[in-house]
Amino acid sequence: MEIHFQQANAGNYLAASRGKAQIDYLVIHFTANDGDTAKNNADYFTRENISTSAHYFVDENEVWQSVRDADIAWHCGTKGTYFHPYCRNANSIGIELCSRMQDGKYYFRSGTVDQAVQLVRTLMARYGIAPDHVVRHYDVTHKNCPAPFVENAAAWQDFKRRLTEEVDDMTADEVKQLIEQSKTVYTTAAAVPDWGRATVDKLVRKGWLQGEEKGNLNLPEEMLRVLVINDRAGIYGD
Ligand SMILES: [Zn+2]
Repeated sequence: MEIHFQQANAGNYLAASRGKAQIDYLVIHFTANDGDTAKNNADYFTRENISTSAHYFVDENEVWQSVRDADIAWHCGTKGTYFHPYCRNANSIGIELCSRMQDGKYYFRSGTVDQAVQLVRTLMARYGIAPDHVVRHYDVTHKNCPAPFVENAAAWQDFKRRLTEEVDDMTADEVKQLIEQSKTVYTTAAAVPDWGRATVDKLVRKGWLQGEEKGNLNLPEEMLRVLVINDRAGIYGD
């Protein structure tokens, strides 16, 4: 994935030259804004000197990096109590998701979550980080951050599930079509579409394809495809 980079103001992070082994957690945040972009945030942290930062900002279109992975961003520290035994700024990467607000509640656009899943998966692979080391800011300090994943535990579970699920290149429509097709069963030879008709007629004629006692073929579409491929290969003769 494409990641834009714009260095944060030097007052917002700690230059650290961390090695791969020192990066052990990924911490998810939300910007608590309504209508911001990843680029807005990168610009803000370059312009302002506010002793706070995050490594990445994600919206539905872009990912902007503001602090190098090897440097320490100030994103999950507290002067209060830590509720996570190990995760700290020094051993983590902070990822901010741009939020939106509706009816007084923050939410993430689905495209923003999609991009965050991809970024987190990339970083997990790069640093050998296990899924249980991907945490919310909430898990570290009990701050209500990221609110959409704290107030809705199911949304967080879904995000976590997507970090390890098998990805394939099929679109939702293609998957739907495949499921529809797999349900298609041709009951009679007459119902078989043109592309499979000659094969079915041949197999019935030869007596190789017989229906149940009422004469119904009950031929699933996947089976028909295999028969047609075999027929084209000459397996069933003329
Ligand atoms: Zn946070």
